Amino acid sequence: MPLNACELEIDLFCRGVRLAPDVSLDGVRGVSRTRAGLGSGLEMILPGRSWMKDALWVNVPVEEHFVASSPYVLRGSLASGHVVEDERDHTTYDVSLPPEPAWYTRPTSRGIPMQRIGVMQGTYLGIYVNMVCTFWNYQPALNCRFCTTGQNVGAAESEDKALTDVVETSAAAKRESGATFVHLNGGFQGTRGIEFTEPYIRAIKERVGMLVGVQLAPERDFTRYDRLVDLGVDHLSFCVELLDPEWFRKICPGKDRMLGQQLFFDAMAHCARRMPKGAVSGEIIAGLEPIEHTLEAIDRIAALGAFPTVCIFRPTVGSDLQDWPSPRYEDMLRVMQHLYEACRRHWIPIGAAPNIEVSIVVNPDDTALVAPRSPGFWAYEAWRRGVKVLAKPVFAWKQRPRKPGRGVELAGQARA
Ligand code: SF4
Repeated sequence: MPLNACELEIDLFCRGVRLAPDVSLDGVRGVSRTRAGLGSGLEMILPGRSWMKDALWVNVPVEEHFVASSPYVLRGSLASGHVVEDERDHTTYDVSLPPEPAWYTRPTSRGIPMQRIGVMQGTYLGIYVNMVCTFWNYQPALNCRFCTTGQNVGAAESEDKALTDVVETSAAAKRESGATFVHLNGGFQGTRGIEFTEPYIRAIKERVGMLVGVQLAPERDFTRYDRLVDLGVDHLSFCVELLDPEWFRKICPGKDRMLGQQLFFDAMAHCARRMPKGAVSGEIIAGLEPIEHTLEAIDRIAALGAFPTVCIFRPTVGSDLQDWPSPRYEDMLRVMQHLYEACRRHWIPIGAAPNIEVSIVVNPDDTALVAPRSPGFWAYEAWRRGVKVLAKPVFAWKQRPRKPGRGVELAGQARA
């Protein structure tokens, strides 16, 4: 029996897709970089075929070692359309591969191709604004073992991103790709990471008008988060990754030694109190530690009023874990069903923001397609729809370029 779109999304994350010898990828979004070991694949849109979701975005592994044994094969071209065939039973699935944005190769006014500033990950723009995460500078390195950021920043993407680069790239993504959301991240930067992002947030808010999210290692001075909230940041996310302390220590040695796991939850709780429900998220990786810990982490994050963002572990080429196995579909299905139930129990308004489809994770609202049908399911789905309608004018207002406030940096000023 064919899989529904969310089941297929999960299976593609776990198994990847092989490219048929005659498949054409001309004109589609290329495999551009491997930010943190998540965005290394081929962007694909799966038709939702459901009143719950029109389309699901998935960044499908194509280069990792485990893909060689995938039963899925991609065929076709942009002109004729692409299909994914499951060679186990010859089921075929129509899919679309988004075209590469025309602005990718266009230079910013400093002459840097915009795809070296930011990339589309689904329907939103991702920009790594800070210097290389400093966990990579230690000897021996303290980087998270699944991550490849230290190999990308300065290679696949520009190391130095001025305000003008970020503003111009964001404006192009908004104007030409319909992006509503820009996500700024930057790994561990000691006590300077949050401060460093502030001018970027101001400039995007004033000159472009987009929803802005920030993802950094947590900092101990929580008044810095208050400043971001006052600046109008729309989303804050915290990558705690793993719940079991031993696994956390083993996979994320820098986070363990320099920050400690509890700080992630404390920062999440602080921000969740200051921001609207659903504006904060806790990110975890499923498929490394035993699944019971992943389920517990989901419950813990949702209980704070944050939404869990669950990445399916990808043993990305070049990472320390590149030879590890990819997770099992059955386990990941269970995780995603649990994710939906946790959001439902805590009335987290998943899927309320306009046009934010994240290709590198299973979006929480995608999981409605695999959730058991119950009276609670129908009540939550009706409520989510109501929230989405009511939130529409609020999000429209937040996407208007706003007037510069007093004391802000000159918009367009290159950073020192
Ligand atoms: S904190 Fe970990 S995952 Fe994030 S950039 Fe640094 S090494 Fe990579």
